[in-house]
Amino acid sequence: MRRMGIYTIGLLFLFSVGLLDTVQASREGSNDGNKMDASIRRLINAVDPGRISKHLFYLAKDPLPYRKLNLTLPGHEKNTLYEADDYLAGKLEAWGYRVEREGVRVQVFRRDTSKPKHAQYSPPKPEDPWYTAYNLYAERKGRSHPDRIIIVLAHKDSQSWIDSPGANDNAIGTVGVLEMARVLAEYTSESTIRFLFCNEEHTPWTSKTAAQKAKSRGDNIVAVFNMDGIGAKTAQETAAGKKTNVTAYTKPEGKHLAELMAEVNTQYSIGLEQRTAERPRPGDDDGSFVLAGYPAAVINIGSLPYGDPNYHAEGDIPETCDIENAAMTVQATLAAVVTIDRDF
Ligand SMILES: [Zn+2]
Repeated sequence: MRRMGIYTIGLLFLFSVGLLDTVQASREGSNDGNKMDASIRRLINAVDPGRISKHLFYLAKDPLPYRKLNLTLPGHEKNTLYEADDYLAGKLEAWGYRVEREGVRVQVFRRDTSKPKHAQYSPPKPEDPWYTAYNLYAERKGRSHPDRIIIVLAHKDSQSWIDSPGANDNAIGTVGVLEMARVLAEYTSESTIRFLFCNEEHTPWTSKTAAQKAKSRGDNIVAVFNMDGIGAKTAQETAAGKKTNVTAYTKPEGKHLAELMAEVNTQYSIGLEQRTAERPRPGDDDGSFVLAGYPAAVINIGSLPYGDPNYHAEGDIPETCDIENAAMTVQATLAAVVTIDRDF
């Protein structure tokens, strides 16, 4: 009985000490949480649809109607994809980034007009011309966890087999990543945040090289966000003024990222109709990372199945891009990236 009493007092003591610790930790946690909320809010408020629009029209209309290796404008020295590379690198360097270029041998797709319009790409023959396409990298090195890497990527090229400006697919994702890089240029990250501008409308996809090289270096990539077709949706959804984003994942690790996108959309009142979806198999540039052994990889896309009526057609012009929608998706992705940056 007495011993029981001592035990009880001891247990109560241990319990109360434990409880105090818990209260203390949660108080500190919420302070940190508040600070984090405020800094994330500042970052997402800095996203500028006007800049997104300006870059979009530059890369998908004037002066660059397309971004492909097999088209050089009259009187120009470089093909339109290299000109786009120079534009992106110039902006990144102006914001203090060092830009790295990684060359990958690729071909342009042949065109098979017997297929439906959106799927007229067909494999090149080995004797068709080969080109060097470049992956562009820029990064913020992490302060406390530089080996922990978050990747935000977009394919920057337009369709190589057809004259489409590729505004929704995918100049908009490209300029979305560019805008994130601008906003994060002054941000002190704990982890490394790496921006990758790759190519997916030529073959093979240069994201495959990027992912495989990361694997062979042993990079610790904790999250990959692919921005592709952000803001493009069905004509009906556009007419109804919907602001949509689908975050699609392949593996359970990606599902966590998709759920985080939904959480930050609510927490920061971004206002997207945010949906998550499971992909039947790895696809697009996020899929290149899944296949290389990085399962925490997702795509942010306006609709799935992709509802843009001008998909892979000449009518994929910047005037049809929902820039406001894309800016909201950039905000949500930014909030997710910064949340992961500090969550170790
Ligand atoms: Zn495409």
